[in-house]
Amino acid sequence: MSKGNHIELPKVNDSGFFEVRMESIGGFGANLAGKILGEAGILGMGYNGSNFSSYGSEKKGSPVKSFVRFCAPDKEVRVNSPVTEPHILIIFHEEMGKNVPITQGAGKDTVVILSTSKSPDEARDHLKLHGGTMVCLDAMKIAVEEKTRVNTALLGAICKASGFIDPEAVKEMIRKNLGKKYAFLIEPNLKTFDRGYNEGVSKYFEPDGKYPYVPFTREGQKIGYFNQNMGGVLTNPGSAISKDLSTSRSGWVPVLDKTVCTSCGECDITCPDYCMVWAKEADKKGKERQTLQKIEYQYCKGCLRCVEICKFDALKAEKEYEVDKKIIEDGFTQS
Ligand code: SF4
Ligand code: SF4
Repeated sequence: MSKGNHIELPKVNDSGFFEVRMESIGGFGANLAGKILGEAGILGMGYNGSNFSSYGSEKKGSPVKSFVRFCAPDKEVRVNSPVTEPHILIIFHEEMGKNVPITQGAGKDTVVILSTSKSPDEARDHLKLHGGTMVCLDAMKIAVEEKTRVNTALLGAICKASGFIDPEAVKEMIRKNLGKKYAFLIEPNLKTFDRGYNEGVSKYFEPDGKYPYVPFTREGQKIGYFNQNMGGVLTNPGSAISKDLSTSRSGWVPVLDKTVCTSCGECDITCPDYCMVWAKEADKKGKERQTLQKIEYQYCKGCLRCVEICKFDALKAEKEYEVDKKIIEDGFTQS
């Protein structure tokens, strides 16, 4: 659809905007997805609007939000605050809710798109969603299979959920953003987009009182320049217990086969996040030595450096959605 030939937005808020909020983790491509979506609507479909992202220290693993607003072409955009009550809310990883209040402002008119293998009923309970439309898409599985990222699959789901965003306009912006430099990624990404468009499972939930509505609130900064400890030291006991890097993984995990492991220790030296758990054990000759017990997956970001370094094939890279949950709980297998 060419610029200036836009169709009317199906719904807008009191300020005249159709609003999208993406809740993500650095590395999943939410910033780029917001840019592509914004360009598709504004340059490709003739709406006016804006897109911006918010993140702290820009690095893989930290929370990222991306916002997109669309309005009629003759309306000026004078709002640059975060989207508080989104028409579409996209959650890039189902475990994000542990640390970030991701569903704030999602009401009965919101479409919530979750990257998950759960059913809509399971997903609603998982997110404790007040009501609204729940769309479940196994974006990680699609991304692993197509060797792409979850962002393009979720863009497909956004188009479908919106009811007005032209898939061809988004595809055009995917091509443009990948350009000549990443031309080899265009076809897999377009396929990922199509799968995201077609494979989502959707269900509407009436606000039935099962879970309360959670309004958007902006939390002030608790620790900053004036009150932080010297050197930014964290004195809160147990901060390592609440640290969880599992949402940083991109579909792959190392699996430790203890029957093959020699406890040589190479993986431990390589792992940037101290995921390997050791204990003293008697070896076959009865001599006590440090022995690798398991991987603590809570701290594992899936970089797979340990797999590369292990010369005994005791660590293998496997698709996380195919790995038995018991292996993740135990931290090892003995196959
Ligand atoms: S590098 Fe391989 S063999 Fe060595 S301790 Fe790690 S898993 Fe075991
Ligand atoms: S993939 Fe291996 S090296 Fe990387 S964080 Fe996980 S356990 Fe450590």
